[in-house]
Amino acid sequence: MTNLINRDKSLIWHPYTQEKTAHPVRAITHGKGAYIYDEAGNAILDLISSWWCNVHGHANPEIANALHQQALTLEHVIFAGFTHEPAVTLCEMLKRHLHTDFAKFFFSDNGSTATEIAAKMAYQYFRNKGENRQLFLTFEGDYHGDTFGAMSFSAESGFHDHFRDLFFKVISVPFPETWHGDEGVAEREHTALVALADVLEKYGQNIAAMMIEPLVQGAVGMRVCRPEFLKKALEMVRSYGILVIFDEVMTGFYRTGTMFAYQQIGFTPDFICLSKALTGGFLPLALTITTQDIYDAFLSDQSGYAFCHGHTYYGNPLACAAAIKSLELLESDSCQQQIKAINSAHYAGIELLQQQVPQLEKPRVIGNISAFCHKSSAENTNDIKNTFLERGMLIRPLGSTIYLLPPYCITTDELLACYQKIATILTHK
Ligand SMILES: *Cc1c(COP(=O)(O)O)cnc(C)c1O
Repeated sequence: MTNLINRDKSLIWHPYTQEKTAHPVRAITHGKGAYIYDEAGNAILDLISSWWCNVHGHANPEIANALHQQALTLEHVIFAGFTHEPAVTLCEMLKRHLHTDFAKFFFSDNGSTATEIAAKMAYQYFRNKGENRQLFLTFEGDYHGDTFGAMSFSAESGFHDHFRDLFFKVISVPFPETWHGDEGVAEREHTALVALADVLEKYGQNIAAMMIEPLVQGAVGMRVCRPEFLKKALEMVRSYGILVIFDEVMTGFYRTGTMFAYQQIGFTPDFICLSKALTGGFLPLALTITTQDIYDAFLSDQSGYAFCHGHTYYGNPLACAAAIKSLELLESDSCQQQIKAINSAHYAGIELLQQQVPQLEKPRVIGNISAFCHKSSAENTNDIKNTFLERGMLIRPLGSTIYLLPPYCITTDELLACYQKIATILTHK
């Protein structure tokens, strides 16, 4: 092991890692485009966008330059009572992509806080209006982050079982996942809607909000559902006066093909949570975006009605500058073409896998995300992860699910070559 890896091992506790059995970490010296490079000089193609946040490639020079200029101008300032150009410009730019109902932008610095803020706002919204709604709703398998509030919404994701006794009350209803060639989806959706109707009839008046991952449940294993189902389910939910929160922390910024997943559903939620790709993968930043109606419920001559929440790095100018540049790049014709090209390459790649890999199950593609299930991954995630790495691919299976979610700068040739390598690995050729 190299010196750096030894120094790391003596000090650092890594996230989501069983430190006793994990393979040694790799020391990364630099990144460029879709690749990261380790100490030995190996190029590793980042096929999961470094936990779903990178969009324009590593060490993107345009974002780096925007950051450099901002750092020389204003690195940070308290946001209570103050404002600055990068924060306002970023929100104005985002607003152009959003339904007109979205009027107010609340900053934080990661996905878990963005969802927790939405839940707190929804809860206090009812209190401010003199109603006391105690319950929340979500789908089985949803994941909304690792802080206590966010964990309460992720009880069935399988990540947080130790803390279950400490969660507040969130009811989960079935999520009718689907895949290519799935014939049972209509029946699964029907069952899910019946279960939802039952919960709503019993508890609807006491539910403050439903939080969902629109179209794709990421962390539980890239499980996809149909937009028509969500529209039906959410219209039922809304008829009980329940607020709807879309956690677009993973799905935002064209991951599902459109700027935001909600645009494919024909349903506008009361809250949207953004993080991950917001800064192109450069810095932590998050937004909870909501409507004028929600905002107005917090206005009062009494200070107790205010939303008493705020993080130290609220609206950090450096993160905002990176986000502005990332959005500009996203809006460019070349990036838009890339987004479409990746989707086509995923379809071709999944077809190739279906032809070559016998035990492949539940193939699915949505936007820039492709996924399938394979037993080899469920049996030994650590080893298969390591095999992919040795073949120059950063892929992190989730249980039996193997998925690709690359940065938008990847070329279709690179992506298709990966599918061929994956086929070879899974068939032990
Ligand atoms: C990653 C993720 C979160 C949590 O974001 P962090 O920045 O890791 O706290 C929340 N919701 C979804 C859908 C996510 O994918």
